[in-house]
Amino acid sequence: MHSGGRSPSGLGSAADERDVVIVGSGPNGLAAAVIMARAGLSVDVYEAAEAAGGGTRTVEPMPGFRFDECSAVHPMGLASPFFRAFGLAEHGVEMLQPEVAYAHPLDGARAGLAWRDLNRTVEGLGRDGPAWRRLLGPLAGNWQGVVATGMSDLRHLPAHPVAAARLGRRMLEQGSPLWNLRFREEVAPALLTGVSAHAIRPPRALPPAGVGLMLAALAHSVGWPLVRGGSQAIADALVADLRTHGGRLHLGRRVRTLAELPRASAVLLDVSPAELLRLAAERLPGRYGTAATAYRYGGAACKVDFALSERVPWSARGCELAGTLHLTGSRAEALAVQREVAAGRCPERPYVLAVQPEVVDDSRAPRGKATLSVYAHVPQGYPADIGDLVTAQIERFAPGFRDVVLHRWVRTATELQGWNPNYVGGDISAGAMSLRQTVFRPVPRWNPYRTPIAGVYLCSASTPPGPGVHGMAGVHAAGHALRDRFGIDEPPLELMLG
Ligand SMILES: Cc1cc2nc3c(=O)[nH]c(=O)nc-3n(C[C@H](O)[C@H](O)[C@H](O)COP(=O)(O)OP(=O)(O)OC[C@H]3O[C@@H](n4cnc5c(N)ncnc54)[C@H](O)[C@@H]3O)c2cc1C
Repeated sequence: MHSGGRSPSGLGSAADERDVVIVGSGPNGLAAAVIMARAGLSVDVYEAAEAAGGGTRTVEPMPGFRFDECSAVHPMGLASPFFRAFGLAEHGVEMLQPEVAYAHPLDGARAGLAWRDLNRTVEGLGRDGPAWRRLLGPLAGNWQGVVATGMSDLRHLPAHPVAAARLGRRMLEQGSPLWNLRFREEVAPALLTGVSAHAIRPPRALPPAGVGLMLAALAHSVGWPLVRGGSQAIADALVADLRTHGGRLHLGRRVRTLAELPRASAVLLDVSPAELLRLAAERLPGRYGTAATAYRYGGAACKVDFALSERVPWSARGCELAGTLHLTGSRAEALAVQREVAAGRCPERPYVLAVQPEVVDDSRAPRGKATLSVYAHVPQGYPADIGDLVTAQIERFAPGFRDVVLHRWVRTATELQGWNPNYVGGDISAGAMSLRQTVFRPVPRWNPYRTPIAGVYLCSASTPPGPGVHGMAGVHAAGHALRDRFGIDEPPLELMLG
């Protein structure tokens, strides 16, 4: 037990008192857990599921076929200051780099290809190649500065003002009606829009533009890698490190109220604001409770996994080399599709994000067979199985795809929430990525991690910097908890190096 700790906050009643209790073992919860355990504190993590990792879990629903249940591709993991300090490779996590980070097939057997190599990408984009270089080259060239801005707590002046200014200027362009000004053809703008649409919002707006530009820049710098064997290896490495530093993990323990937790000086919640309200409603003052209730959940995902007898027969050359593919047609079609979703309608041709791990990883399927891990954008809380629409959208760019499908598993948006309470209504971003909710996430407060309950912090993707496997919300929350509750002023990432 940490000798310098203040008296317990009075949470719970169990005799087994700890310095820190964490609810949820997603990447943010585990990042916070690892940091606090390395600071010499006693840490217990409670996880509802039977496996650790939240959005980094991997499953094997059929012998030999392994699927990432959520995150599969890790530009943010590789670029994240937390994971760089942690050292994924040193902890046995092998990142595998597809030559083509992502592809964007278009009708007529054409495709935009984002090679890791910027020059090769530029060469493939014809007349728009130079525009692509001018847009992304300066960001890729200073990706650390871009990441320092994009993965910050959005509360301080940028540590890299030049990179922040470059990103901001490009966001203003790509998030506005000026977004086509620099492009002359169809492929390059579609290629970028496929990435911006990750935000599950109409992409011609500032937050999707920011997401798109950062991820696109990372493709040409750190790459868009997959983890050998599946993303679960990331969670397993964090859990192993937590245990090495004395921490404990309790699986299959859905926490229903803060009162059931052991007494602790600090409680960090890797949960959504909706779950916070369930856990502590009666202890949250009216204003905070009202703001947390008003937090909006956004567009959702329907998850579809395919076991295949062979790889996908893409019609456009180069797609067979890509780790990730965005299936949504032209920029105009992508915008229209996201507007449909935002209006609460499921598009006939949904946005499909497909990952084909066999491009780099032969451990996901039996020899000669393949997997395709997919999700499609649907409206918030959409209950229907859209497996047929997803299959048709893949078939559009890969005629003959249906013939290679051995098995299909679908998890609807509403089922996603049952599987992980953080994905309210199937919102995989843990809250709509509107401009307001990018900055004021989850409520309009200077410190988004502290809750009004002394010693209780939020550390999930519902706090800045938002969704993705980067662990940085956990880092920022842990930094506040260490200072407030234990008088430890050392920056959290320095604790990782010490
Ligand atoms: C289909 C899908 C695809 C994605 N693809 C990518 C990708 O390729 N790359 C990427 O970087 N990101 C991706 N993401 C996003 C990424 O997975 C999340 O942003 C990230 O996992 C959020 O981390 P977190 O720690 O905040 O929460 P989560 O990872 O959601 O973890 C929260 C954990 O808390 C637990 N929990 C919640 N409430 C309780 C409770 N009351 N008691 C006990 N436990 C509780 C949950 O069971 C869960 O394990 C994807 C997400 C989804 C759903």
